[in-house]
Amino acid sequence: MNRIKPPPPQHKRPIAQSIKSGRPEATFKGIPVSPGVAIGPVFGAHEPEAKAEYRTIEPSETPGELARLEDAIARSRKQLGKLRANLGLLPDESQAEIAPLIDFYERMLGSTRLLEGVRQRIREQFLAAEPAVTAEAESLAGLLLARLTPETSSEERSGLERRAEEIREIGRRLVRNLTFAPFRSFAGLPEGAILVSEALRPADAALLDPSRLAGVATEEGGAEGHTAVMLRALGVPAVLGAAGIAHAMQPGDIAVVDGGSGAVTLNPSPTHLAAARRGVTAFARERQRLARLCRLPAETQDGTSIDLQANLELPIELPLIAQSGAHGIGLLRTEFLFMNRESVPDEETQTEAYRTVVEAMGGDPVTIRALDWGGEKEIEALSSQGLVPSADVNPALGLRGIRLLLRRPELLETQFAAILRAGVAGPVRILLPMVTHVGEVRAAREIYDRVVRRLRRARVRIPDELPPLGIMIETPGAALSADALALEADFFAIGTNDLTAYTLAVDRAEADVADLYDPLHPAVLRLVQFATEAALRMRMPVSVCGEMASNPKLTPLLLGLGLRSFSMNASAVPRVKQAVRAVMIDWCARLARRVMEQSDPARIQEIVLGEERG
Ligand code: PEP
Ligand code: MG
Repeated sequence: MNRIKPPPPQHKRPIAQSIKSGRPEATFKGIPVSPGVAIGPVFGAHEPEAKAEYRTIEPSETPGELARLEDAIARSRKQLGKLRANLGLLPDESQAEIAPLIDFYERMLGSTRLLEGVRQRIREQFLAAEPAVTAEAESLAGLLLARLTPETSSEERSGLERRAEEIREIGRRLVRNLTFAPFRSFAGLPEGAILVSEALRPADAALLDPSRLAGVATEEGGAEGHTAVMLRALGVPAVLGAAGIAHAMQPGDIAVVDGGSGAVTLNPSPTHLAAARRGVTAFARERQRLARLCRLPAETQDGTSIDLQANLELPIELPLIAQSGAHGIGLLRTEFLFMNRESVPDEETQTEAYRTVVEAMGGDPVTIRALDWGGEKEIEALSSQGLVPSADVNPALGLRGIRLLLRRPELLETQFAAILRAGVAGPVRILLPMVTHVGEVRAAREIYDRVVRRLRRARVRIPDELPPLGIMIETPGAALSADALALEADFFAIGTNDLTAYTLAVDRAEADVADLYDPLHPAVLRLVQFATEAALRMRMPVSVCGEMASNPKLTPLLLGLGLRSFSMNASAVPRVKQAVRAVMIDWCARLARRVMEQSDPARIQEIVLGEERG
């Protein structure tokens, strides 16, 4: 089953030592999201052509089609707004080049002839929105180009051609937003390349092959978004939110990505390159050292045994989990099984996928989370089949996770059935995402019982002892109702990523507010403490599976709050194990008491991160 080899360490790869681009060195600062240093030729991943097949609609579908168009316009405006917000960080020449372009695109998305023409084609020719956009953009571009005559000066000619191309480009952006096209082609990615792009969606990250890719640098994205989570899981050094990088890079450039400091350098000087090579080697040595921890127990100095498990998104990560020394999977994010495909995976497909993972874990438990659609995790198969609303005003607060599953119980039934069937191959647990109140757990359990009865009636093999049904504690609502929820659920998994985002009203994947995203904010810690204590009072298993669990500097605090089980990206397991093995539980409890007395997040940072150990 380990079909895919883990990525070769970069110091063993043929990095582009001899390529010289001749362009000056330029450094961009971003958010370090996945550690390690990578050196390689840049690869600009541009969006593929958006497909707009010719399709007509029934007259009765006109209002729906117009609404889809408005959604796509709103999305396009939002994307341009983000680009504009980042403009100030670009070098002056780039600003001067890009700002008028954004102005033009934004104007085109106002009340223009283009959009009026598109609406008219939908209303009068009953065209679907995509072909209506393409036809209208083509027709306007054609009108501009028709002005060209043999007498047109070359300056005027290139001006008209540029404008026509810009109209087509805004058409392509609208079609991409109409089709939710997350697909990007990484087919031409040369071995050992650094992927540089404006943005990388979680669905795109799921397509990356870590054995070919040296590193990633993007302009958008935050440290705890799902793209960052994926890149860490894949062990690919990465910097997100590096404003200007995608516009500044040119084919043939060499880049150094420092996933520890957050710096990305194009065309490094020989001195810089030599330092980066030392960084690559040092990181590889450190990895080897940590790998030796694999066989040692995760035990504190006073002999308390701690459960360290791995989070899994894609089967490609299984070999990394095997190497990490994790005992089981504490969070299998099933969203990635639903991404980059045209239809929702059926029960057979899901059973097979889950069984593969369960078997690979050789008897260690696997916690499989039901589909957490929504937020930044867009799944085209669901959107295109009309299983979810085409647009949410604020998707993070919309029909996400369990809310969608209860609205579309057939999705949950299929998933429960597949997990139950896979549970014959080894111990599994089922986890419900985005719970906010007890009614959701009760409703999900009714569906669970119904699926069990159906499978037993049909004599399908499922485990005699049913897999426990647990819930994510990742909304403030759930954390504050943890005492009531503990009566309904079999276990808690605390998702500190969303818990932090929802508590502090900070988007996890938004570079602009990344500095406000603080899991050490006392409000977040109090919610973690409240939920943990509610579980411990009931003697119910509780773990942390958000990114907080993977930061070894936070391990003593979490131990001090009473937590004994953590699930994290596989590459973090050795470091967290090292942190566990270095402490005594008493000391951790004192640290936690000191931290929980504080109200100032900066002071908490000092105590926890500043190694103020007493
Ligand atoms: C979380 O929110 O902390 C979590 C683990 O879930 P996800 O990151 O998949 O949203
Ligand atoms: Mg979450």
